[in-house]
Amino acid sequence: MSETQCTICHDSFPLAQIFTLDGRAVCAGCKPAVLARVLSGEPAPLEPVALDARVMGFWETVGIGWKVIRTEWLNLLILGLIVAVPLNWLLEQVPLPDDESMQTTMRAWRLQQLGQTVIGVLATLGTAYIAKERLEGRRATLSGALRHAVGRWLSAIGTAWLEGIYLTVLMLLLIVPGVIFAGYYVFTMIAVSLRGCGGTRALS
Ligand SMILES: [Zn+2]
Repeated sequence: MSETQCTICHDSFPLAQIFTLDGRAVCAGCKPAVLARVLSGEPAPLEPVALDARVMGFWETVGIGWKVIRTEWLNLLILGLIVAVPLNWLLEQVPLPDDESMQTTMRAWRLQQLGQTVIGVLATLGTAYIAKERLEGRRATLSGALRHAVGRWLSAIGTAWLEGIYLTVLMLLLIVPGVIFAGYYVFTMIAVSLRGCGGTRALS
């Protein structure tokens, strides 16, 4: 007997038990939820995208990013504000150096970097979570995104710290590979957020 996959829960069912709702195959178990969503006029979730299945082209990536922003802009905006407001407040508490000596300027700059790493990473983690949920056809709640970000926070900070050490070592060994890896590590935080790994595994 031929089986069909439910587009919501991805389990396989005999064709007779599959309904077509809102243009997608849905099993009996998922039908009420889809029906409720259609009746409430909420837009259908985006088709799930197999992010690992292939390397996406640049414009495809931009297109998906734009879709996520368009549908999740409110959550992303609130998340950004939740992170940016205390971050800016904290940075303003850092006293500006009285003298313009190299050492005090460097210290103030380092404090700012630290603040951005420690707090700003929350926004990165939360944003990645919202995008991932959207791409897998679910809607992330703001509290869910924050819970996820806080849950991965320590791991992300640890990874950022490790990253700093790695980069320093690489820079010392040779400038060029360090620069290449710096570009590569932009994606590290996204890996920490989505793959549930941290530290050296996120860096590899
Ligand atoms: Zn189902």
